[in-house]
Amino acid sequence: MKNYNLLIEYQCPQCGAPATLTETDRLFSCEFCRVRSYLMPGSHFRYQLPSRAPDSKAVFYVPYWRFKGMLFSCVGEGVRQRFVDVSHQAVDNRLFPHSLGFRSQTLKLQFASTDSDARFLPSEQSLNTVMRIFKDRFNLLLPQPVYHQAHIGENISMIYAPFYAENSLYDAVLNETTGSKLPDGFHETVAGCTPLDWKLRFLPTLCPECGWDLEGETDSLVLLCRNCNSAWLPGRKRLHRTKFGHVAAGKDADVIFLPFWRIHVDVAQLNLDSYFDLATTANLPKVPRDEWREIPFRFWSPGFKIRPQTFLPLATKMTLTLPPDLVADRLPAGELYPVTLALESAVDSLKVILANFIKPRKIHYPTLQELSMTVAGFRLIYVPFVRRHHDLTQPQLKFTILTNQLKLAKSL
Ligand SMILES: [Zn+2]
Ligand SMILES: [Zn+2]
Repeated sequence: MKNYNLLIEYQCPQCGAPATLTETDRLFSCEFCRVRSYLMPGSHFRYQLPSRAPDSKAVFYVPYWRFKGMLFSCVGEGVRQRFVDVSHQAVDNRLFPHSLGFRSQTLKLQFASTDSDARFLPSEQSLNTVMRIFKDRFNLLLPQPVYHQAHIGENISMIYAPFYAENSLYDAVLNETTGSKLPDGFHETVAGCTPLDWKLRFLPTLCPECGWDLEGETDSLVLLCRNCNSAWLPGRKRLHRTKFGHVAAGKDADVIFLPFWRIHVDVAQLNLDSYFDLATTANLPKVPRDEWREIPFRFWSPGFKIRPQTFLPLATKMTLTLPPDLVADRLPAGELYPVTLALESAVDSLKVILANFIKPRKIHYPTLQELSMTVAGFRLIYVPFVRRHHDLTQPQLKFTILTNQLKLAKSL
C-alpha cells in the first residue's frame, strides 16, 4: 500500500495569499504576512475534491471517510500489525463509487466550503462502521478467531466528492457520466440536503498563560512555551494546558527528545496498580520485588508517528520497563521532536500494548473484548535518544529507531 499525504489549496485567513498545505499541517505560517495560526478542524478535517462541472450544473457533494493509520489484530499467536490507508463512502448508497480510488492522491483538495450553495449529502455511516466493513474484508486473511482489533488513526478526515445529475449521474471531477440511472425521487433527496455546517477555525499561536509565541513544527499536535515552561494541547475550541515532564539526558552531547504519552489506566478486571502487580498479573519473566509495590504502573505509548512494526515493540518495552526518574513540568534544553500522534491514538493503543505482553494468551485473549480500561490521567514525557549516524538510541532501554523510519513516518 502506497503512502501519501494529501495536498490542500489554502488561502491565508489574514491576507488571502495562496498556499499549499499537506494534510498533516496544523501550524500555518503565512510567508507573506508572517501571521501564524493553528488550524482547528473540530473532530476531523473536511476536504472537497475540485469540481470541473460546467457552471450551469447543480453540483452536490458525497462524503467519504479517509483513514490512514495502523491496524492491530490480536490472534492466537499474538498481535499482527499493518499500515492502512483507505477511503470509503460515508453514505450507504450503491449509486456512488464505494471508495475514492486514487483521485485524492492526484488532485489538490480544498477545505470543504460552507460558502457555496452546493448541497452536501449527510454522512450515514460512522467511521467505526466503515472500518468494520474494511476489517471484515481484511480479516478473511487472518487466522481465526480475531480476539481484538484496534485501528489507530494518524490521519482521519472526511473528503467530499462532487457529482451532478442529468439523465444519469455525473462524476464532476472527471465531468463524465458514471452510467448510473437515477432512481425516482433522487432530485428531491438532493434538494432536501443542506449546505455544509462546518468551518475551519484558527487560533493565534500565543501562549494563553504569558502571551509569548508558542513553539511548534508545522505538524505539531502540542505547542510549547519556552518562556513560562508550559505545553498546550488544542481541544475543540481552545488550547488546554497539559502536564508534561522529561527524563534527564546523560552526558551524551547529541540528544533529541522524543515525546511519549504516559497514561494511568484503571483496568477493571485486572490488578495492575503497581509494577509488582504487573509482573505477577502479566506473568512477566522477572521475579517481582517487594519494593515494586510502591511503584505505580503506567502505560507508555509513542507520541510520534512511526511504522506499526516499531510502534508496538517500543510501546511495550517502555511500558514494561521500570519508570525512569522524571523532571516534572520543565521542558528539557535541547531539540524536542514534535508530537505527531494524538493522545486519543495513544489511548486506542492501550489494549493492544497489554495484549502484546500479557501471558498466557490462551486465558487472557478471549477476555480482551470485555476488558474495560478507563484513563485516570496522563502526562506527556520527553525521553532522550542519542543521535548516531543512522539511528537514535535510548541507552537505558537499549532501543534503537532508524532515523530513516522517522523521516518516512512523517510522510505517512
Ligand atoms: Zn498571510
Ligand atoms: Zn507562556
